[in-house]
Amino acid sequence: MGNTTVIRVHETGGPEVLRVEQAELAAPGHGEVLVRHESIGVNFIDTYHRSGLYPLPGLPSPIGQEAAGVVEAVGEGVTEFGVGEAVAYATAGLGAYADARVVPAARLVPVPAAVGCRRASAVLLKGMTVEYLVRRTFRVEPGMTVLWHAAAGGVGLIACRWLAELGVAVIGTVSSDAKAELARQHGCSHTIVYAREKFVERVRELTDGRGVDVVYDSVGRDTFVRGLDCLRPRGLLVGFGNASGKPEPFDPMLLAQKGSLYVTRPTLFHYVAERAELLASAREVFDRVARGVIDAEPRHEWPLQEVIDCHRALEARQTSGSAVLSPRAEVG
Ligand code: NDP
Repeated sequence: MGNTTVIRVHETGGPEVLRVEQAELAAPGHGEVLVRHESIGVNFIDTYHRSGLYPLPGLPSPIGQEAAGVVEAVGEGVTEFGVGEAVAYATAGLGAYADARVVPAARLVPVPAAVGCRRASAVLLKGMTVEYLVRRTFRVEPGMTVLWHAAAGGVGLIACRWLAELGVAVIGTVSSDAKAELARQHGCSHTIVYAREKFVERVRELTDGRGVDVVYDSVGRDTFVRGLDCLRPRGLLVGFGNASGKPEPFDPMLLAQKGSLYVTRPTLFHYVAERAELLASAREVFDRVARGVIDAEPRHEWPLQEVIDCHRALEARQTSGSAVLSPRAEVG
């Protein structure tokens, strides 16, 4: 089926371990589809795979979890998708950093024309994450208040929009005034620049001493335990990422002392493992994009070959909102 450009790591480490290589494309087997990527989603989890924070199944390993593109060939037994259709995926194992890829049909979702591949690749994984976090890990109700760390990030901006539409007040932490402004433009009610403000005290002030109903924490080590002090009695802390490193272990007695609190550590795959759940979650995301609730336009784009620069910017906190990689070399 020809060759593809693929990004692989031969050893884990910093952005420089990402190698641009050529590989032969296999024909799609039973139940599989060959997708020609139009746009590739970049997610912070990709840096965990690259650095070794999340173990890879073996080395060398391809990398990347999310892309959207056009069906180029289908294997035996595939009836749901046909050649020429626009599709996207976000939970099909590693290998999305490539210009084409064979993917199990069961992990694909159709991309509505009103959304398009570029925007789909910018929001599918991040949007489904917000969907399960605010509707299924905990059902956030109108009138509630949540604390969302890294509110101007890819997942963060989608969450601000989604929760604002639900009538939920969002207190968002960010590292700069520019990111604070951006989060507010996306519906965040209050922002805290955690580099210079003490977020626990500010959350207490903003909630008249009560605390928030839920803390959504993807920053990890720098914020996790202090998040417990931001909650109302019987509130929930949802840890879902490690942008600053893995949180330190903590004594469960703290949960009793601080108000009979709950803590959970979910991951997207367990919420979209069933095909019906995957399709429903993607529909919720794409519906909000089509209605203009979520701004799906990627805020950063690099050519696939410049993936090292992309990872450097992501880890240096220079990005906000979503970033994508383009398999077409001419993107600047
Ligand atoms: P983001 O665009 O949010 O980028 C990460 C952000 O984290 C940065 O922009 C930065 O925002 C903040 N941050 C805080 N401390 C650090 C640090 N030490 N180094 C770098 N960044 C830091 O990424 P994504 O939208 O792709 O993902 C957001 C988080 O959600 C990630 O932690 C990711 O792993 C997690 N995630 C979890 C999923 C799950 O199911 N469990 C699924 C999808 C994502 P600022 O500059 O404002 O501090």
